[in-house]
Amino acid sequence: MKAILFASFLITSLFAKTFPVNIREGKKIITKQLELENLESEKVFEGKYFKIVKALETDAVSFSDNQETIKRAATVYYHLNIARDYFKAIMPQNQELDKQMIIRIEKVRKWDSSIHSVKGEYQYNGSLSVPASSTLANIGEEICYGENNSDCKIVEPWENEIWFFAPKLIKESSTVEMATNYIDSPGYKKMLLGNLLYADFTQFMFSAFQKEMVDDLLIEQHLYSMAMSIGLTAVLPKVLKYSAKLFKTKRFLDSAMIPEIIYHEYSHIALSTFLSLGNSTAIGEGFSNYFAYKMSKVKKLGANSKKYYKGELPKKINSKVLYSIEQDAVQSLAWGSFTFSLLGKLDVALGEESEVILLKSLEYLNGHSNLRFDFTKAVLSAIDEVGKNKLALKIAALNVFQEKGL
Ligand SMILES: [Zn+2]
Repeated sequence: MKAILFASFLITSLFAKTFPVNIREGKKIITKQLELENLESEKVFEGKYFKIVKALETDAVSFSDNQETIKRAATVYYHLNIARDYFKAIMPQNQELDKQMIIRIEKVRKWDSSIHSVKGEYQYNGSLSVPASSTLANIGEEICYGENNSDCKIVEPWENEIWFFAPKLIKESSTVEMATNYIDSPGYKKMLLGNLLYADFTQFMFSAFQKEMVDDLLIEQHLYSMAMSIGLTAVLPKVLKYSAKLFKTKRFLDSAMIPEIIYHEYSHIALSTFLSLGNSTAIGEGFSNYFAYKMSKVKKLGANSKKYYKGELPKKINSKVLYSIEQDAVQSLAWGSFTFSLLGKLDVALGEESEVILLKSLEYLNGHSNLRFDFTKAVLSAIDEVGKNKLALKIAALNVFQEKGL
């Protein structure tokens, strides 16, 4: 008996330490005990490429922290290494990927490009890729906060970081009451419409159907274009009626627990040489979703993660949304599914060359590029540069652009 106990002790101590990591198994998120690659510490989540810290702490998360924090740190660490391996294979020249990055979990302070984190201003439920401090940042300056500006700190320079905000269940206050108070404010009207757009129209229609909320107006395919052409005020009462229900949805997102969100954020970092961080665009968000899909094979990003993701709509590679000028003009649409579904269709149409071509197209794009002209041109230029059967590939790409209304 003693010998067996001793032997089993030897075996477990020979094997590397394992941690609880959230992974996708089929469509579900499950937790598995897994080893972590490139760890350089036996006590904290600090490795060759990633150092996981809590909020604004400077030391890495300890292996003896609470269970939830350990699971977040381990999940983020595990998937970031997978994402790094993926990008290192397709972008071997990208030296950004070889540096050690600071990853913040359970972050609650808002981002500010001049001072990094804002004290007293909070953000929950989401993730953000933060660009390194630029010449615009107030490095070395003393910034003071609080009512009497009594709380001061010197702003230190920082490198690219990824933040995973602390999850928090947020219930919207009664929208109907809110609406009656604010219905005439232009900001509120814009927000209502933005919410509809953000929700991705087909998804909205579907949920409206399920809730038996459909009426004649909503059956119209393009509520937004209608609003634009006949005037917002004309459709607002209807929009209000339905979006009130949407608004009541509780919001909760534990982004550090969902593999494809981690891939999405790392994609922003890997692609930041082309598409600058700190400014969300349709192309930037679309490409990050596309690569999150390539790494995870998840076609509805964020779906089937009930425990960690409430009240938001998944990003769908099979979204039927067609191009309209708003996709380029309205920033909230960058977080919809259009560009993701466009890249998804190109991925299929361009076959085994898709990844190489789409990656090459980024060399023709920047943080100000639009979909209609810049992206379509970039794909065709990329085919010219690296495609094998150029004519067939161009026809395939043009077909996709046409199918998606571009
Ligand atoms: Zn993003």
